[in-house]
Amino acid sequence: MENRNRQVLLKRRPTGVPTPADFEITNAPLPDPADGEVLVHGIYLSLDPYMRGRISGQRSYARPVEVGAVMEGRVVGEVARSRDQAFREGDFVLGGYGWQLYSAVSGQGLLKLDPAEAPLSTALGVLGMPGLTAYVGLDEIGKPQRGETVVISAASGAVGAVAGQLARRAGARVVGIAGGADKCRWVEAELGFEACIDHRSADLGAALDRVCPKEIDVYWENVGGAVQHAVFPRLNDFARMVMCGMVAEYNDVDPRPGPNLMSVVRKRLKIQGFIVSDQWQRFGEYRAMAAPLLKSGELKYREDMVESLERAPEAFVGLLQGRNFGKLVVRLGADPTRPA
Ligand code: NDP
Repeated sequence: MENRNRQVLLKRRPTGVPTPADFEITNAPLPDPADGEVLVHGIYLSLDPYMRGRISGQRSYARPVEVGAVMEGRVVGEVARSRDQAFREGDFVLGGYGWQLYSAVSGQGLLKLDPAEAPLSTALGVLGMPGLTAYVGLDEIGKPQRGETVVISAASGAVGAVAGQLARRAGARVVGIAGGADKCRWVEAELGFEACIDHRSADLGAALDRVCPKEIDVYWENVGGAVQHAVFPRLNDFARMVMCGMVAEYNDVDPRPGPNLMSVVRKRLKIQGFIVSDQWQRFGEYRAMAAPLLKSGELKYREDMVESLERAPEAFVGLLQGRNFGKLVVRLGADPTRPA
């Protein structure tokens, strides 16, 4: 075990597009776990779009990260010391905290991981919070039916890839929207979506008309912006819009005008937002459903692995511009369960 803790702190609140200079990389003493706590040595750190909200200081559903504090984030790691009887040194866990190599956290918030069940890093993506997001959003809001057309934005991403695959399993015809030809190829060839439209190069409206001849019954909203404006007029009567996120607008200083809402009345649309943390009680149910599908290869995923904590700020900035391809994960240290 090292005797210092490498950390990334929030240095200042960015206005508009964040830059790596908004963060500071520093050393701190190793944390000392209190009674009931566990010292987690991080192996993988999750970077997620929600973190843009946490550094903005605006009122939201969760408290912001304070300036000078360690950046928030979920970590998969190995127990380095335990003062909770339920955990032993060497256990693999989900629930370490923050952009740092070590964290002392309460044993109560930890989930023990079995590396024989699935690769450890998947607990941050396809078998983690993003996967659960896709599951509950579809189950409670989207409710795709056999033969319906479902459109998924940010389709190659952590949430979008799972949402689309689950909608396919429900018998829907699934169309993705993603940034770039490589992402679209993967969404079609690997995830098996009916089609995928590149929002950067295509005339989005015309492309949607071509691949959604019966228009759209469920729209999974991950990005907002121009994509939302192209999809909205193409929603069918009684369509459902699953408001998961609007990452294309997270760096905006002023909110953009949205689509005119009269069609919500005319078409009897359902537009509903949700926050996955209201649904943690369904995490076990989701993992029990998804882990066997992952093992059998029926549920596909892709990770974008960034080597080392030092590169986390730059990778996070890139996430908000679509530079990641798959679930963005930072490798904090060696994974003893995987060959080097
Ligand atoms: P992704 O892995 O999908 O990565 C983000 C993707 O968003 C990028 O790869 C890019 O995809 C797209 N994107 C980023 N910036 C822009 C931009 N400026 N314009 C257009 N597209 C952009 O992230 P997640 O799957 O983790 O998250 C997807 C969405 O789900 C986010 O909005 C996030 O906030 C939301 N979310 C909501 C939750 C909830 O509880 N409601 C929980 C978890 C996530 P591309 O290049 O294909 O456009």
